[in-house]
Order: sequence, then C-alpha cells, then structure tokens
Amino acid sequence: MSTNLIKINYRAHGFLDFGAARAEKIETIRPRFEAFLAEGRHGEMGYLARNLEKRFDPAQLVPGAESVLCFLAPYGQAGGGVAGFAQGVDYHKIVKDRLFAVIGELKAAFSAFEGRPFVDSAPILERYWAVRAGLGFIGQNNFFISPEFGLRTIIGVIVCNIPAERFAPHAPLAATECGACGACLRACPSGALRAPFDLDARRCLSYLTIESHAPLPADLASVAARRGWRFGCEECMRACPWDKPLTPLPEFETHRAEIAAMSDADWSSLSEDEFERRFADSGLRRAGLDQLRNNYSK
Ligand code: SF4
Ligand code: SF4
Repeated sequence: MSTNLIKINYRAHGFLDFGAARAEKIETIRPRFEAFLAEGRHGEMGYLARNLEKRFDPAQLVPGAESVLCFLAPYGQAGGGVAGFAQGVDYHKIVKDRLFAVIGELKAAFSAFEGRPFVDSAPILERYWAVRAGLGFIGQNNFFISPEFGLRTIIGVIVCNIPAERFAPHAPLAATECGACGACLRACPSGALRAPFDLDARRCLSYLTIESHAPLPADLASVAARRGWRFGCEECMRACPWDKPLTPLPEFETHRAEIAAMSDADWSSLSEDEFERRFADSGLRRAGLDQLRNNYSK
C-alpha cells in the first residue's frame, strides 16, 4: 500500500463531509451514558442498554478495527408534521447504500481494506465518532452540529482496518462548541430538554412519536397536535442558530409531496394495505400507521 494519504471522494457519493477517527476504546462519556440508562431516561429504547462493551469499544464490534470513518448525509426540512429525515426512503437504507459504494471503491483501490458500514442500527456512538473525526461538536440540544453544514445531517460510519492516520485529516473547524445561547431549551414544547445536554426521552415528542409504541400521554398528545408534529419534532433544532437549510439527497425527498398532501382525515381513513403499499420503503413504517394516527389526537 502506498504511504500517500488516502483520499475518499465522499462528495461524489453525496456526502457533505468526511473525517476519520482512531477506533479507540471510549472512556470519557460512559459514566454519563450509564447514568442516563440508570434513570430510565431512554424510555422503551431498551437496545441502548444492551451491548455496552461493543458500544464503547469499536474493536469489540468489528474485530481488527483501526478507525471509524464518518460521513455526513444531508436531509431537508420537515413537512406535513413529519421530520425532515423521514420525507423519503428510510434513512438507514439511503446512507448505508452510499457507504457500501464507498467501501466498494476502497476495496478496489486497496485489496487489504475491510470495513463495515453502520447507520444508527448497531451499538456505535455515531455522534461521538463524528466529533472525534473533527467534523463538529455536540450542541446543548444533543444534536451533532457541523459548523459548516448545521444540524440536518445523518451520520454514517464505516469501521475499518486502516489506521485513521492514513486518511487525509479534516480541516480545523470554525467553532468547536455551540455557544450555549439556550434557545433550544426555551423552544422545547414538552419539557424534555430539561437542562443543557439533559434530555428525558420519555417526554420528547420525537421519541414518543417515532420510537415509542405506547399512546402519547394526554398532555403531550395535545402539545404534539398544537405544534403539528405527527412523526418527529424539530423545535430544538429549528431554534438553533446553527441550523441551516441543506440540499437533501434525492432519496430523502421521495415522499415529500404525498406527505404534504395528506390531511388528518386522509391519515385516519388510510388502510393498512394502502399504507404498506405507499410507504413500503419509508421510515414512517418504524412507527406504523396506528401510531401515526394516535400521535396526533386533537
Ligand atoms: S425533539 Fe422536540 S420534544 Fe424533543 S427535546 Fe427537541 S424540542 Fe423537545
Ligand atoms: S440552540 Fe443555542 S444552546 Fe441550543 S444547541 Fe443551538 S447554539 Fe447551543
């Protein structure tokens, strides 16, 4: 293998940014994560409490891991009460397909390359690694923030067997922390964002309308209806001065028009078969039709 730095043509694959981090065991944030779990603030997301050894050590997840390659994929604005990342094909598939294309190129160039792609589907802390790769920082609203590209990105990672030093380093950032303006805390309509970095998922409209399959508590169902959220919530994102519109990957937009055209009555009368037919490739299926209806009870 050449000693020259490896360049990845990430823009050709639709990604806005790329960086590589050493795949080291994570020590720093584990106590805070375990306190979050101990207080039950992860709600029904029981998977967060599993595989902690893998979550905090990429070499346990992928034997021989040397680096975590991080990529940012852009998505657009919310519409029809649905978060911006859910306006098209399921983001797990969108981003993973593009990561596989990157892996194909790397394998073609370096026969020894081995890597596995992950998109919010395995015990790996994508936001942590994106920070370590030099792409941005974590805001007080817990979003990953790129000073250049804002908050509307999905982080895809490839855990691979090539040392991080072999990849071109990321340029220095224009900022390394959010600025603590407090706008996200003031904007949260449910009290889920209790203090800087302190999220109680059990009161978060995003968690409740996407991940949880229980009916929303009555007080929060009325908040969701008043604020117009059926799947997700972007209030703490929109309030952030780092938020900026991005040109989304086309696959992120494939259902936008039909979601915008759906009235409350349309959602109520939609049959399961029709929902499956129309939204077969969409992340909306994560919540399911019943939950999409129940999320928004006036
Ligand atoms: S997503 Fe909505 S409910 Fe959740 S913390 Fe942000 S503003 Fe609050
Ligand atoms: S709204 Fe303000 S405090 Fe919250 S993440 Fe953005 S910059 Fe930080």
